[in-house]
Amino acid sequence: MWDSDEIVAKRDGKPTLSTKQLQAAGKEIGHILRPIPAPKNLPDPGNVPIDFEQTVPDAQADANGKWREKGETAYTDIAGPNGDFAIETLEELGYPNATTPHRGGESVALEMLDKIVKDETYTATFRKPQTSPSAFEPQSTTLLSPFLHFGALSVRLFYWRVQDTVTEYSKKGNSASNPPENLTGQLFFRDMYFAAQAAIGATFSQAAHNPHCRFIPWHLPSKLDPETHLATFEYEVDSVEAETWFQRWKAGVTGFPWIDALMRQLREEGWIHHLGRHSVACFLTRGGCYVHWERGAEVFEELLLDHEPACNAGNWQWLSCTAFFSQYFRCYSPVAFGQKWDLNGDLIRRWVPELRKLDAKYIYEPWKAPVADLKRAGIRVHGDGLGEREKGTYPKPMFDFNERRRICMASMKRSYDVGLYGNDERVLDGSWRELFVGGNGAVEATTVLDNADGNKANEGDDNNKTSTVHIPAKREAKQSTLDEVVKRPRKV
Ligand SMILES: Cc1cc2nc3c(=O)[nH]c(=O)nc-3n(C[C@H](O)[C@H](O)[C@H](O)COP(=O)(O)OP(=O)(O)OC[C@H]3O[C@@H](n4cnc5c(N)ncnc54)[C@H](O)[C@@H]3O)c2cc1C
Repeated sequence: MWDSDEIVAKRDGKPTLSTKQLQAAGKEIGHILRPIPAPKNLPDPGNVPIDFEQTVPDAQADANGKWREKGETAYTDIAGPNGDFAIETLEELGYPNATTPHRGGESVALEMLDKIVKDETYTATFRKPQTSPSAFEPQSTTLLSPFLHFGALSVRLFYWRVQDTVTEYSKKGNSASNPPENLTGQLFFRDMYFAAQAAIGATFSQAAHNPHCRFIPWHLPSKLDPETHLATFEYEVDSVEAETWFQRWKAGVTGFPWIDALMRQLREEGWIHHLGRHSVACFLTRGGCYVHWERGAEVFEELLLDHEPACNAGNWQWLSCTAFFSQYFRCYSPVAFGQKWDLNGDLIRRWVPELRKLDAKYIYEPWKAPVADLKRAGIRVHGDGLGEREKGTYPKPMFDFNERRRICMASMKRSYDVGLYGNDERVLDGSWRELFVGGNGAVEATTVLDNADGNKANEGDDNNKTSTVHIPAKREAKQSTLDEVVKRPRKV
């Protein structure tokens, strides 16, 4: 909505860590511009063949190569195979049909936006924390993010159509919802992450060398390129157990139906609700697996239709409490949080069909169901879900969630007490290990917090109690809090 570099300049180079900071900087720049109208037509390109010698790009760089089934035929002519400048079809690009029902293009986006603003009450009273993550067909939010990402929808058009609707609604004496929960507030989050990324630069999407990102010694950390200091797509498997959990999370076979439903919906449709993203991101990082948020961000990058580097990295930082948000004692339960929205488990029944017939009482925790109930539902709780799965089975839960939640919270507390950030010398030279568990490198605590019930999830998206950017300083670690941690050998 605003030029991110201008926002950064108004903040003297500092990243925006809350939507309030963004709005304050935006106010100094001026109001959000209305979009200019699209051209009515394009000039005829005439005859423009591509009969010159072409350099074929290196196939190694074809990130989508693994999905391609046939050769591409899309680029035989500048105006495309049909001479109409149409966007390439999947078939022309050599890919199989899409599994997602969501369709792209500006006409679809404008139709969807029209439909949304025609529902004046929905548009003007939208409150994000009250939209359900379990709603599908139709979903509870706009689902306009992929269009914004691909530029099929102007964010300024989105903003102004919503704002004009809200103005009309309020003129009639009605009370509209406000930022950050309302619809325009959602767009502020987007600009907030863009401007934060613009201030930090390339290291925004990683923890190492990132001054605004807390150092938490997650499992499966990225390997860094020694010259650029940027994360490569490779990672260190420091724990076989964590790697297995990560693979099960990615495949949607964790044994926790709420998580598996969301991960399978993501894989097939390329979009899940924001609070669904909260659930799976919290579960992978500080609320279960203690796996690095960069692993999760990579999976989202591959699977999301709306993948947006700044929003993806920023939200993963938020959910893992490494930046933007710090209330790590608010943890999403894969059971209670889903039940709050969807007691009958409809989302699970849709995406984990093997559990379709299970009684609602057990659908979030099938491992607790009596054998007779499982038999009636035609299902056995068995195996880890990886590799070829036996028909009629659903995997066992990969850990005791309550135990993992307590371990993760205690480990987070310890990392917060140590208080390192991504650009600290001790993080970069590996001496951080000396600050954790007597220097043996164990990253997880074994002494847990007594009050770690963690059921305070989903209290809204913006708390405005944000972290500050950390300029490296050789602070002494608070040893007192480290003493409570029991020595534990590192699993490699
Ligand atoms: C771990 C995680 C990863 C995410 N990765 C992405 C991503 O790669 N790309 C992306 O666009 N969003 C991302 N989001 C933010 C958010 O989940 C999606 O923008 C939203 O769910 C898109 O659905 P919608 O269009 O129906 O949103 P609506 O609720 O209808 O909101 C309207 C628009 O506001 C913007 N918006 C809303 N919430 C956020 C937010 N928290 N951060 C940034 N923009 C927001 C989006 O552009 C969205 O289209 C992520 C969230 C989490 C928790």
